[in-house]
Amino acid sequence: MVSTLPVLERFHSLQGEGAHTGRSAFFIRLAKCRVKCPWCDTKNSWTEDFSTQESVTNLSQEVANARHEGAAFVVITGGEPLHHNLNPLCDAIRQITTSQGKQALPIHLETSGVDPISGNPNWISLSPKRHALPRLELLNTCQELKVVINEKDDLLFAENIANKTPRFKQPLLFLQPAWNNKEGHKLAIEYVKNNPNWRLSMQTHKWLGVL
Ligand code: SF4
Repeated sequence: MVSTLPVLERFHSLQGEGAHTGRSAFFIRLAKCRVKCPWCDTKNSWTEDFSTQESVTNLSQEVANARHEGAAFVVITGGEPLHHNLNPLCDAIRQITTSQGKQALPIHLETSGVDPISGNPNWISLSPKRHALPRLELLNTCQELKVVINEKDDLLFAENIANKTPRFKQPLLFLQPAWNNKEGHKLAIEYVKNNPNWRLSMQTHKWLGVL
């Protein structure tokens, strides 16, 4: 039974990416990532060195407080959150937010998809990587597929990976230019203009200087 998790940071802000952009959310960023993307903008999340062990009970209480202050959902991100068993944390969040006399607060998960699913999240934002392919179970169950665009080959990868998602229940498809990459921006914008199945996802929190 996991009673603590390594937490890098947690904060109440606005979701900056994907389909829920602009909505109030409480973020829990867990430490550890073995995927090691060269362009990663949270390299301090790769190890537990900058994190503190936080109890699942305290974290779920913080989520409940954030809901009271307006958070519409909680986002579990990383690092790679599925390196950890998320069942105890998600169970605790569901339990405490249900006890507020409302439906449980929706749990969103941001993942690269390299590990088995845990926590039974309500929304999975899958951001697959060319060098560490996601598991089929994540491709089959994600609600949004968000591919980071650095170079031309990423567009080909985006199409290939989108073709592996179920035809009858395809996720929303997003191209997200890598931060500070002019080429990535140009490629993503042009591609979305010419391919209506795809949408552009910008890291609006960074543009706006919002945490
Ligand atoms: S999966 Fe995410 S946290 Fe891990 S290295 Fe890649 S971008 Fe960074």
